[in-house]
Amino acid sequence: MIPALMPNYNRADLVFERGEGAWLWDAQGRRFLDFGAGIATTSIGHAHPHLVSAIAEQAGRVMHTSNLYRVPQAERLAARLVEATPFADSVYFSNSGAEANEAMVKAVRKYHAANGHPERFRTICFEGAFHGRTLAMISATGNAKYLEGFGPPVDGFDHVPFGNMNAVRQAITKETAAIMIEPIQGEGGVRPADLRFLQELRATCDEFGLLLALDEVQTGMGRSGKLWAHQWAGIEPDVMSSAKGIGGGFPLGATLAREKVAEHLKPGTHGSTYGGNPLACSAGNAVLDVILAPGFLDQVDRVARHLWRGMQDLAGRHPKVVAGVQGAGLLLGLKLHDVVSNAEAQGAAVAEGLLTVAAGMNVLRVAPPLIITEAEADEALGLLDRAMLRITPGEAKAAAK
Ligand SMILES: *Cc1c(COP(=O)(O)O)cnc(C)c1O
Repeated sequence: MIPALMPNYNRADLVFERGEGAWLWDAQGRRFLDFGAGIATTSIGHAHPHLVSAIAEQAGRVMHTSNLYRVPQAERLAARLVEATPFADSVYFSNSGAEANEAMVKAVRKYHAANGHPERFRTICFEGAFHGRTLAMISATGNAKYLEGFGPPVDGFDHVPFGNMNAVRQAITKETAAIMIEPIQGEGGVRPADLRFLQELRATCDEFGLLLALDEVQTGMGRSGKLWAHQWAGIEPDVMSSAKGIGGGFPLGATLAREKVAEHLKPGTHGSTYGGNPLACSAGNAVLDVILAPGFLDQVDRVARHLWRGMQDLAGRHPKVVAGVQGAGLLLGLKLHDVVSNAEAQGAAVAEGLLTVAAGMNVLRVAPPLIITEAEADEALGLLDRAMLRITPGEAKAAAK
């Protein structure tokens, strides 16, 4: 018989009852170091007192009023995001990454239509991308596995190999509206785009009158050690999506845009009942208080470099299992050899008390809360070390003794 909760996920048989910072406790009282952060989402850790009190306080006043009325919490959060994000002039709020991307693609199409080019509706996307699970976003993602059985894909998304500038230029036609890319492919295997490639995409967009649309749902909100990952490349997009870490675990999505793009989303063009409600935006403001505090992102960068060095050492100690380390900031991946699967590695880490997340291309993703200390990074490295020993072919028995 089908379970009451729809069986559309492969869930591990773990139940977490309580969290604090980078730690989670399960129903048996076992303690886990959470280096998955609910898929890069609990950005300031579990039960952060400032976030908890902001949510509780707002819930006790008013949670939701709809966008029929002004929402001061949303106005404040938008103003702060615009202030902190050089390219952005205006922000649209939603409830998830897929929705933030939907708004981004709709804004791109509207921009060209409003400028007399309704035929320019196509977006160039990349192989290995992940943009969400709505009908349009599975088309933007382009992964055959996600499209199968859901009817004709939404038209208007063309895919080229990640990092291939010639292929991008060849894919541009009179119908092309934008190029959409994750600065680091998350689900696709923690694959960073070359900074040069991002710079060339910016130049190509300028050359052909295209908009550069960045999906920073996973890479944004401080995860790379800067507020936005694209800032490492010294470029600016025209429109960008954010979600995951922006609410610290409370559902919130945002689409940030230049004025020339945002101005076309006039009343009636797009919307969401929940989007940007007082509760979600109070959570967003509390997260921003922490992430924009002086020195916070410098510490993320410091601890990320520390973790990176430790993962390189780890890779060196386990050459039979680990092929290399990739990623940036606190979005890192252990690329594994084919002899072991990332699911196996993930399971071994859980057995040692460490939570991680699998990603594409047989990568084990490490995406801790941004508040971790160097000591917690070292602890995670120790647990990973033991997990790798568990799964090393031919050494499993020796390790078990
Ligand atoms: C997770 C993710 C999404 C989808 O976000 P949801 O909140 O699950 O809809 C989109 N893009 C990227 C890059 C993501 O990592």
